[in-house]
Amino acid sequence: MEKIQMVDLKRQYQKIQDEIDNAVINTIRSTQFINGPEVKEFQKELEEFLGVKHVIPCANGTDALQVAMMASDLKPGDEVITTSFTFVATVEVIALLGLKPVLVDVYEDTFNMDIDSLRKAITPKTKAIVPVHLFGQCVNMEEIMKIADQNGLKVIEDNAQAIGADFIFSDGTRKKAGAIGNIGCTSFFPSKNLGCYGDGGAIFTNDDELAEKIRVVVNHGMTVRYYHDYIGVNSRLDSVQAAILRVKLRHLNEYAEARRKAADYYDNAFSKCEKLIVPKRSDFSTHVFHQYTLKTKDIDRNKLQEHLASKDIPAMIYYPVPMHIQEAYKSDRYKEGDLPVTEKLSKIVISLPMHTELDKEQQDYIIESVLEFFE
Ligand SMILES: *Cc1c(COP(=O)(O)O)cnc(C)c1O
Repeated sequence: MEKIQMVDLKRQYQKIQDEIDNAVINTIRSTQFINGPEVKEFQKELEEFLGVKHVIPCANGTDALQVAMMASDLKPGDEVITTSFTFVATVEVIALLGLKPVLVDVYEDTFNMDIDSLRKAITPKTKAIVPVHLFGQCVNMEEIMKIADQNGLKVIEDNAQAIGADFIFSDGTRKKAGAIGNIGCTSFFPSKNLGCYGDGGAIFTNDDELAEKIRVVVNHGMTVRYYHDYIGVNSRLDSVQAAILRVKLRHLNEYAEARRKAADYYDNAFSKCEKLIVPKRSDFSTHVFHQYTLKTKDIDRNKLQEHLASKDIPAMIYYPVPMHIQEAYKSDRYKEGDLPVTEKLSKIVISLPMHTELDKEQQDYIIESVLEFFE
């Protein structure tokens, strides 16, 4: 049996090696490393895939979030609402820009933003909402957009973990995650569902004016060469990464299918175990399983993680410490106990290996090893 990885990038590469090697070598031979044709082509192909008017590639997912906020006319002190149960980047960029992160709770079953918790957090100073489509499925975007409309708020989707997932509106229409709010952001970090072989990210919008501004912000705030109308940043996707992403985008649907198949197999095995709760799938979203995250009942999940490690099976805790109790983001606004669901989840979740190359032999071994812990 192949050694089990949390994400098996090597075996994924081996299956598409010829396509990737060709794309990389051709880009190197073109020597158009920055903003070359590969970047433009990738941009167009991603626009088509997502059904959005504009994709603006950038250097990573954190930059994508930062640039989205820089382009959204937010002023120091404005409140931006997001969830405490997320990766730090979401909260970090809000704080870096002098904005005020307001952290709300999530639903216990989907790990995504709790709509009541969001409603309660809105004040006259609130200017934006950042829903995070955690672990591969969408936040309830229909509700988010309604609330944003009623309160005049901007919506910036953190879609680093759910690229390719569909949101299904109550009338049956579908839109891609990240293509619903004013701006969507994603990351092409290697382990993400659409990962490159280094760092990368992108920003999406259907708003022509906003797109123009984002293009200026990622390029030093430069409208005409050497004339700077805004304070900007330097954030680019390089051409080699774009060439790799073009190849992988062609496989993205098939990759999502492989992840869902692996998730079904896990679900089937673990739903019989009283001490485990399998991840819920929302009816308003498809799931692309960036992570397969179990909740444990009445056990020490760290012991389960150690047990798996002793069997050479990696398992990860996403996320062990909620943002509102992190040293860097503590504030008078919160104390421990204020976001009870997030705090509970941080103690009981465990994510199992999930990737496009998991085979039956590996999954059987993982399942057997997990269940053995409870015997
Ligand atoms: C990975 C991730 C990011 C940041 O992406 P980078 O490309 O690593 O900067 C932001 N938000 C979430 C939810 C993520 O998972």
